[in-house]
Amino acid sequence: MPVTATTSVPDAERLRALVRDFLATHDPRERLRFLRARFDAGLAWVHYPEGLGGLGLPRALQSVVDEEFAAAGAPDNAPRRNLIGLGMVAPTILRFGTEEQKRRFLRPLWTGEEAWCQLFSEPGAGSDLAVLATRAVRDGDDWVVTGQKVWTSRAHEADWAILLARTDPDVPKHRGLTYFLCDMHSPGVVVRPLRQATGEAEFNEVFLNRVRIPDAHRLGAVGDGWRVAQTTLMNERIAIGGGAAPRETGALGVVARTWRERPELRTPGLHDELLRLWVAWEVNRLTNERIRQQLANGQPGPEGSAVKLAFARLNQRVTGLELTLLAGEGLAYDDWTMRRPAGVDFTQRSPGYRYLRAKGNSIEGGTSEILRNIIAERVLGLPPEPRTDKDVPWKDLPR
Ligand SMILES: Cc1cc2nc3c(=O)[nH]c(=O)nc-3n(C[C@H](O)[C@H](O)[C@H](O)COP(=O)(O)OP(=O)(O)OC[C@H]3O[C@@H](n4cnc5c(N)ncnc54)[C@H](O)[C@@H]3O)c2cc1C
Repeated sequence: MPVTATTSVPDAERLRALVRDFLATHDPRERLRFLRARFDAGLAWVHYPEGLGGLGLPRALQSVVDEEFAAAGAPDNAPRRNLIGLGMVAPTILRFGTEEQKRRFLRPLWTGEEAWCQLFSEPGAGSDLAVLATRAVRDGDDWVVTGQKVWTSRAHEADWAILLARTDPDVPKHRGLTYFLCDMHSPGVVVRPLRQATGEAEFNEVFLNRVRIPDAHRLGAVGDGWRVAQTTLMNERIAIGGGAAPRETGALGVVARTWRERPELRTPGLHDELLRLWVAWEVNRLTNERIRQQLANGQPGPEGSAVKLAFARLNQRVTGLELTLLAGEGLAYDDWTMRRPAGVDFTQRSPGYRYLRAKGNSIEGGTSEILRNIIAERVLGLPPEPRTDKDVPWKDLPR
């Protein structure tokens, strides 16, 4: 059955049949052609609108599509390597982009033809992101951007970036920001690796030296960047907190396998700890799955912060347990080459790598302290932190 804009798929079985028909008529060995056709058929992310990779269906039905493609051994779009693009940029463009922007960016983002990074953090602006100093000044049809960003994951291989810049220094910090889509191949973009505790340079510092961005690549209204960025940040927490992973995957899957295969390492105390972590991991996985299924059009609320917070804590405890279990053997580091990897690998690398990399989980995408503040204020309704700079123009803030 050909998929058209008017195809209606009332239930999971119809959707399953749609995927099977697609598989019968498209050759999975032609990876890129296959992925493009999958997007055009509305089978990329079924909850997106028709014409933009989806069929306007409930998000919960995505697992039906993913299962069918996976069972057929069809190529995927490597979601693990494309976390920023798929998890953060796409829902933000879907919500705030013009029709032209949606049509221009979503398809190559989904197929992985264009990689994305996130130019938010700066040396003086992390948790308090709204104080950022990168300036964007209007010049005809363009904006001219100057500043420095830091900790930019994947900037070394990104084609595009989501960028938050200050367009008005005379108003309080949250109000003078604007959100842009920045071509990373533009003149004036300089990317330098930053080596981290694992020995790798997953992230970078990025210098923006009078980079010109056309106004057509502004996302949302001038001065509305903070609101647009909230959509990105809330989606980031869901994206980092864990995908629709099967049971016993990630770092927990590795340690559970070691436990089964190496009985000589076991002690009653470790058994107790492993069971506790196994249950906590499963609770987090199922909570995450429930939140994902409840999302309407990819717009999570502040409760996503709880999933990310719990994931960071659990991943650190699980990777710590693995080191205790393996003792000296676990501390041996696999390789100290300064690689510039595309993604984080919690399953194929050494226990030492996993342990060190897990430390970053409680910093990236918002620190655990900030997530606790968000949960306290926006989920539990507790009194907010005092914010004395709320009404002070950004240019008058001490820096
Ligand atoms: C692996 C990794 C990848 C990253 N990738 C990216 C990326 O691709 N793009 C990007 O833009 N950024 C990225 N970041 C940056 C990350 O978002 C920031 O590091 C993070 O927001 C924290 O900011 P900061 O480092 O300036 O720390 P600070 O904000 O200086 O915080 C230092 C400490 O003070 C605490 N603190 C600060 N304010 C409060 C408060 N109000 N209440 C209680 N405690 C507080 C923090 O929780 C933390 O413990 C990445 C970071 C890591 C570790």
